[in-house]
Amino acid sequence: MIWNESKECMSRDEMMHLQSTRLVKQVKNVYHSVEHYRKKMQAVGLEPGDIRGIEDIDKLPFTTKDDLRDTYPCGLFAVPRSEVVRIHASSGTTGKATVVGYTRRDIENWEECVARILTMANIGSSDTVQVSYGYGLFTGGLGAHYGAEFLGATVVPLSTGNTKKQLTMMRDLGVTAICCTPSYLMYLAEAIEEQGILNDLVLKSAICGAEPWTENMRREIERRLHIDAHDIYGLSEVMGPGVAGDCKFHTGLHINEDHFFAEIVSPETLQGIPDGETGELVFTTLTKEALPLIRYRTKDLTSITHEKCECGRTTARLSRFKGRSDDMLIIRGVNVFPSQVEAALLDISEVSPNYLMIVDRVDNLDTLEVQVEVDERFFSDEIKELENLTKKITHVLQQALLIVPKVKLVEPRTLQRSEGKAVRVIDKRKLV
Ligand SMILES: [Zn+2]
Repeated sequence: MIWNESKECMSRDEMMHLQSTRLVKQVKNVYHSVEHYRKKMQAVGLEPGDIRGIEDIDKLPFTTKDDLRDTYPCGLFAVPRSEVVRIHASSGTTGKATVVGYTRRDIENWEECVARILTMANIGSSDTVQVSYGYGLFTGGLGAHYGAEFLGATVVPLSTGNTKKQLTMMRDLGVTAICCTPSYLMYLAEAIEEQGILNDLVLKSAICGAEPWTENMRREIERRLHIDAHDIYGLSEVMGPGVAGDCKFHTGLHINEDHFFAEIVSPETLQGIPDGETGELVFTTLTKEALPLIRYRTKDLTSITHEKCECGRTTARLSRFKGRSDDMLIIRGVNVFPSQVEAALLDISEVSPNYLMIVDRVDNLDTLEVQVEVDERFFSDEIKELENLTKKITHVLQQALLIVPKVKLVEPRTLQRSEGKAVRVIDKRKLV
């Protein structure tokens, strides 16, 4: 099913026309309502009239997280506070929190965007949706909640934590879909296996987001829980969850393009790059009223395609995220992403995808230790077997990362589990 065919199945010409009209209006709006944008446009000699359509978008200056921090808390808001009905704030994992706001219309658009993505995951009004994202300033909980309610589904707002209660509610209320981070769903899957209650559940779909995960991890979740797992993407600055999501063909995340215009640029030159090539994702919000963002640099690395999808939707799709340019580690001059470690480990049946990367510098040389949990089924006291497994993992990681890590096996369930975003990297080089 498609929630809004008139928008999700538009021809490319119609979509570009709609985006152009909305961009021209949005640029006029921010120029007159937000001093920060007006000054930035004036600094490059740009007036609203210079932007005549979506093809002129690259004339506009970029917006970054620093712009939000410099105008903290509400300096980029384009409406009076009386029109703002909701505030959220980013989790601030990489610095000071940033505050975002929504008008009533913004909330309505957000609800619909999330409802479109839930529909892609085959969720409808007869489903019971457990929301296990955090509720509060973080956009995950309330974003998923309002979208599922808008769809007409029955919402169970559990938020994070209290795994025992999560599973009791999931079973007793006949929960058919869950929204949470992929690492938390893996954690729940372990608890479900431990309690042996998989057959008592009627769970059929999961919509996971808020942290990068790999295609292998998605398949692993599907295998362990006998469900369909879908990816949902969003970031609080742009809106929250619901900016994009994947359909049953899992060939990239459909962008809600009538609200968000996506560009992929080279992180070095900031010039646009062709479809299919990986670069930094940049979003312009075409309809946001309270906090419009012009060419916002997300730091997320992905590629885009404009080819029509088998599901019938014509909206552009983002490929699975490679990670954030912020997450990228440079170890001995080589670019390393935690997602590469995760993908490699999921191919080795003797270990669980729980890992911790410890980066350090010893005698001016970068070192990488990867702690890996051995799967319970394969855990052995035989030193020889463990040595062979260490060698195998080292080889697989070396192939994937192009550097030789020191692999340390740890016993099952000893690495710390997370109920929010998982901690996968400790970079001791930054601690000195
Ligand atoms: Zn599709």
